[in-house]
Amino acid sequence: MSSTNHDRLYIDGDWVVPSSSARIEVISPNSAEGIGSVPEAAEADADAAVASARRALPEWAATPVAERARILRTFADAIEKRADDMHQTVASQNGMPIAVASQLETNYPTTLLRMYASLIESETDDVRDGAWGGRISVEREPIGVVAAIVPWNFPQTLASFKYAPALAAGCTVVMKPSPETVLDSVLLAEAAIDAGLPPGVLNIVPGGRGLGAYLVEHPGIDKVAFTGSTAAGRRIGETCGRLLRPVTLELGGKSATIVLDDAELDLAKIGNDLFVATLANNGQTCFLGTRVLVPRSRYSEVADLITAFAESMTVGDSLDPATQIGPLATEHHRERVEGYIAKGVAEGGRITTGGGRPDRPGWFVQPTVFTEIDNSATICQEEIFGPVLTLTPYENDAEAVRIANDSSTGLGGSVWTSDPERGMAVAKQIRTGTIGINRYIPDPAAPFGGVKESGIGRELGPEGLAGYRQLKSIYR
Ligand code: NAD
Repeated sequence: MSSTNHDRLYIDGDWVVPSSSARIEVISPNSAEGIGSVPEAAEADADAAVASARRALPEWAATPVAERARILRTFADAIEKRADDMHQTVASQNGMPIAVASQLETNYPTTLLRMYASLIESETDDVRDGAWGGRISVEREPIGVVAAIVPWNFPQTLASFKYAPALAAGCTVVMKPSPETVLDSVLLAEAAIDAGLPPGVLNIVPGGRGLGAYLVEHPGIDKVAFTGSTAAGRRIGETCGRLLRPVTLELGGKSATIVLDDAELDLAKIGNDLFVATLANNGQTCFLGTRVLVPRSRYSEVADLITAFAESMTVGDSLDPATQIGPLATEHHRERVEGYIAKGVAEGGRITTGGGRPDRPGWFVQPTVFTEIDNSATICQEEIFGPVLTLTPYENDAEAVRIANDSSTGLGGSVWTSDPERGMAVAKQIRTGTIGINRYIPDPAAPFGGVKESGIGRELGPEGLAGYRQLKSIYR
């Protein structure tokens, strides 16, 4: 991919000259070579973005629903027009296999924009009888100017989890992409301009955690929507608590893949679903069920199957359509993942496949499987965010549930069984925000988010709009 350099920021509906000469360089995880750069927004640029979002708010909030819905759909069309470019750009920056990027990175944004457009059109006025007589109008007002802080792992998808409901609700947005994935944000800005989004409704300020923290504290921000690590989420939550500023936190996870003793274990049938649930995006996905819980009665069979599954993965350049596992996003992140693998070995885990680097340039780690590892081990308790699965044995369903719940987080997970009712019974007992039976993928139509240290609040579904609204009761 050729190198792309940009010299403007998208603020107030236009390309503006940044206030400083600082730049963010993006490095290819496939080759360790530079692939492009954008201006790094300074605090003065963030001030300009917030001011523009504040100016745009009254008019956007008052825009008739039909017109707002039309603009959201036009925005979806403009993103769709850039789909190939978007998928290539995302995959080239964070190592996401192009096959995964092509399935998700414009599909979620366009689906969400269209879904929320239809949702706001379908809403009717909420007028109720008072419990003590009279009538009450419950008004759904936009919460105001939203700071949307986005991680690098699914940059377009996770941005849209925020801006789509926010814009639909009548809010305006200042979005801060992660420094690792800023090139795709230029394409999003182009789509916004092409779609005729009114000036100031969406603004994009590329920058690091310092700029993120500045936005979270900014007096012009009414709500913070954050996806990222639990550590950063905790700090953001503390700030928002002090400021009494509404916040949505979508944080890390360490979910369980619970294989019941009646599970269908034919890789030809379940391989693709198992991939999405456990290894998608090179393990750099918050909801993955990387703790595989295995019935003692079928332990060796499942260990062989998961080992064969990991060995069957095509590891390669993220831009190769055949690739299932690409490189990790940054060199530093690979060191972190390798540190966890070493820790797993030190704590007594046995590696059945992987554990090292494939013989090629780029920040790759082989898909790795640990067996005979207790759930108390560090690699079963802390999020690795790489292609590393652990297999922990259990004796019966009750113990599987206990181990699955023995985690500080609760975001995703899955249950594998040939009996859907048994699967439902187990799924209901897991303390998590989302869980699948014989499959897992966050569906745009249903709320997504975590319990415990995986976060506060929900995105997606009709419920996702609630985070961008204030309710006002008018008694009459
Ligand atoms: P990160 O927390 O380091 O950064 C995420 C974003 O927040 C970046 O834009 C970063 O610049 C910004 N940021 C960091 N510290 C900040 C602070 N103190 N104040 C304001 N902004 C700050 O996370 P990451 O390494 O980029 O992403 C990986 C993490 O994200 C993983 O832990 C993963 O589980 C989590 N994640 C969660 C979900 C979810 O929906 N729950 C989805 C994807 C990723």
